[in-house]
Amino acid sequence: MKIKTIRDLDIKNKKVLIRCDFNVPIKDGKIVDDTRIVGALDTICYALEKDAKVILFSHLGRVKEEKDLEKNNLEPVAKKLSSLLGRNVKFIPTTRGQELENAIQNMKSKDIILVQNTRYEDLEGKKESSNDCELGAYWASLGDVFINDAFGTAHRAHASNVGIPTHLNDKSNVAIGFLIEKELKALECLENPKKPYIVILGGAKVTDKIGVIENLVKKADKILIGGGMAFTFLKAEGFHIGKSLLDSESIDFCKKVLKEQGEKIVLPVDFAVTNEFTNEEEYRVKDISDLSVEEMGLDIGPKTLHLFESYLENAKTVVWNGPLGVYELEKYKKNTDKLLKYLVDHNIKTILAGGDIVAAANVCNVKDKVYHASTGGGATLEYLEGKKLPGIEVINK
Ligand code: AMP
Repeated sequence: MKIKTIRDLDIKNKKVLIRCDFNVPIKDGKIVDDTRIVGALDTICYALEKDAKVILFSHLGRVKEEKDLEKNNLEPVAKKLSSLLGRNVKFIPTTRGQELENAIQNMKSKDIILVQNTRYEDLEGKKESSNDCELGAYWASLGDVFINDAFGTAHRAHASNVGIPTHLNDKSNVAIGFLIEKELKALECLENPKKPYIVILGGAKVTDKIGVIENLVKKADKILIGGGMAFTFLKAEGFHIGKSLLDSESIDFCKKVLKEQGEKIVLPVDFAVTNEFTNEEEYRVKDISDLSVEEMGLDIGPKTLHLFESYLENAKTVVWNGPLGVYELEKYKKNTDKLLKYLVDHNIKTILAGGDIVAAANVCNVKDKVYHASTGGGATLEYLEGKKLPGIEVINK
C-alpha cells in the first residue's frame, strides 16, 4: 500500500500540525548546524503555498530535570526558521495552555507557529516519550490535519508523532511529509536491491548491530566488516587481537554467524596499529596474525581497503553503517574516506545509514554525491533490522 503524503490531503485553510525534526545542535543559544531545519523547508513551504495554517512541533535534546529546560528551549529554531522562510514564525514558549490555544485560534492562512520543545512534557511523568494519552489527545485537538516529517524519531512511539495521529478527530487526515517520503523511497530500494548487494558495517560494538546483521546477512551478497566490531569477529575466528576493542558478550553471536553464513562475511586482513589510543603516536600497518598483546588496531589497513574495493567493484547496491576506523582521530579516518570516495568515483548506488558515516561523508565532501545519506540514525538502523517504525505505521493504518 502506498503511504499517504501531504500531497494527498486537502489542507487549504486547515490547521496543519507538522511534526518536524528540529533536534539541532545549539551552543550558547546559537544553532551550530541548521541542516535539519533546512531539511524541513520543503514540507513547510508546500503547506504555506496551499494556504494552510502551519503549527510546528519538534523535540530538542532530552529533558530530565529543571536545568535541561533552558538549554533545550526551541526559540532559536523559530528565529532561524523565520530568516530562512523570510516570514514571521511565532514562537509559543509553552507546550500547552491559553497562550497556545489563543494563538492557534487567531491564525490566518499562511501563518506559522512553532510550539515549545515537545520534551518539556517529559519533565513531569515523561508524557511525551511515553506517548501519554491525554497529551496526544490534547495536541490532536489543536488541529485538523497531521503530517509526520520527523524521520529521526519514527522508531519511537511518542505523543507528538504517534499520539497526535491516533487521536486526531478525522483520522484520514494524516500523512507523511516530503522528508520522510524521500527517506522511505531510498530505503525501500533495499527491499529488492539490485545485485550484487553489498553491506559495509563498521563502528564500535557488535551488540548494537546484531539485529542488522541477522536481517541483512539473509539479503546481502556480502557483508564487509570493519571498525572496532571487526575484532570481535576476528577473536571468534581465533586471532589474537591485542588491546583492540572487544565486545566479549557478542563472541558467541559472531561464532554463530561465521559458522552459518561465513561465506558472506568479509573481515579485515590488516590494520593500522598503535600502542596508545591517541593521534600523537605513529602507527604501523600489520597483518591481523602479527598483532602483539600491546597493540590495538584503530583503522583497517591498505590490503583490507583493496579487498573491500574488489567486492565493491561490480556492486549495484551498497548500504553502509559505521566508520571503518576511529574516525575522530585524524590518522585513523583515512580508509573510511578513501572507501567513500571509491564508491562515489565508481558511481555505485550507495545508501549511507546513520549519523557517524553521514558525518564522515560530509567532512570529505561526498555526502551530496551518494544516492542517499539517511538522516535518522536509530530509525534507519531499526529499518535495516526489518522492524516496523511506529511513526510510519500509524500513518499507514
Ligand atoms: P557506532 O556508534 O557503533 O557506529 O560506532 C562509532 C564509533 O566506532 C566511532 O566513535 C569510532 O571511533 C568507533 N570505532 C571505529 N573503529 C574503531 C576501532 N578500530 N577501535 C575502536 N573504536 C572504533
